[in-house]
Parts: sequence; structure tokens; C-alpha cells
Amino acid sequence: MKTIGLIGGMSWESTALYYRLINNGVQQALGGLHSARIILYSVDFAPIEQLQKKGDWSGAAAILVQAAQSLEAGGADFLLLCTNTMHKVADEIRSAVGIPFVHIAEAAAEALQARAIRSVGLLGTAFTMEQGFYTGILRRDYGMEVLLPSTEERALVHRVIYDELCLGKVKPDSRAAYLRIIAALSRQGAQGVILGCTEIGLLVKQEDTPVPLFDTTVIHAYKAVSLALA
Ligand code: GLU
Repeated sequence: MKTIGLIGGMSWESTALYYRLINNGVQQALGGLHSARIILYSVDFAPIEQLQKKGDWSGAAAILVQAAQSLEAGGADFLLLCTNTMHKVADEIRSAVGIPFVHIAEAAAEALQARAIRSVGLLGTAFTMEQGFYTGILRRDYGMEVLLPSTEERALVHRVIYDELCLGKVKPDSRAAYLRIIAALSRQGAQGVILGCTEIGLLVKQEDTPVPLFDTTVIHAYKAVSLALA
């Protein structure tokens, strides 16, 4: 079994999900007392969030590159960055290490292709929805049509992530608002919706909506399991 390197803490609420999902996946595959070989580098999210707000992406990249290099030096065979948003600096991380970097948007796109989905809605932070680093991969590299919520809806989705979900607060009103936005994306032609923020699965589950959901936390974690066991 390979050793999985996780760059986490953004937020720790979702990193805890990765830890559980990956260990569950390995246990289901191997049985008994088997569990995953994981090295976790969990950052302090507050300074990263300040750098995001200031648009200081190179400052944030420096922190994450150091985390990635520590994981490589510690024996990780490959890396996952446990947040969609910070894939803004995926190229900097990828080029700073010699081990594979498992990109969350590429994993999501492969899951969409496996279900023959070509038109998809995207929920995430404003950075993820509005800056090209994420939608560009889906559109350019995988030929997807990507539908986004309206300006007001994007602001709501963003606010709920930072003010509630990253703090472990799960509110029924916010769930109802997210479900309305998902339904609207579906009416506009989305065949499915990417939960493109690793905390959204805390709020919205597949059983809440008939629209197919693609939870990037689950997709990314299970991709790590299959790579670790390959
Ligand atoms: N975990 C979130 C994501 O997947 C948001 C927190 C962050 O800004 O990293 O985008």
C-alpha cells in the first residue's frame, strides 16, 4: 500500500472527512483491521484565509509548497490538497515536488465523464466559481459546459462556506438556500452539480435532491484510496 500525503486544515472540518473516507475505503477494500497509510500536514487556516482575501496567492503558495515538500520528505508517495480553492496554486505545488499531485478538479471531471455528464453546475467559494483556474480545467481540458449560480447566489454560497461550514455550523436555512440554487442550476440544464468546496457535503447530501451531486471530497478521497492500493 502506498502512503498518502494530505495537505489539510482548509478547513479542518473537511480534512476530518477525508481522513474518515480514506480509512473507510481502505478497510472496505482490504478488510479486517486494515487502514490507510497517511501523512497529514494540517495548516493553520486563519493566515491562509487572510492571504486569499488580500489576493496574495504567492504568499499562500509558499506555505503550501513547504507543506508539500515536508510530506514528500516524510515519505508520502503522492499528494492531495484537501481544498478546491487552493488549487489556484496547484501548479506551484506540482512543480515543487517530485511525487504525483492528484488534482481535485481532474478527479471531479473524470467522475463526471464516467456518468456521461457534459453540462454541470458548480458550487464553491467565489474564487473557485469565478476565477478561471477551476472552470478552465473543466471547460478546456474536459469539454464540459459549466453553469454558475447568479451573482447574489454565488455571494450566499461563498458566505455560508466561510461563516458557517468551515466553523462546523450546519444550518437548515442555508441547506434550503443551497437546494434552491441546485434546483435552479438543474432547470438551466445542468445534468449534475459539483460540490466544489470540500465542506459542502456537511450541508447537502444526495438524498436531499434528485439532481446528481458530485461531492469533490468523496471523489478525491476515493481516488486516493484507489491510487494507494493500485
Ligand atoms: N475547503 C474549501 C474548498 O474546498 C474552502 C476553504 C478554502 O478556502 O480553502 O474550496
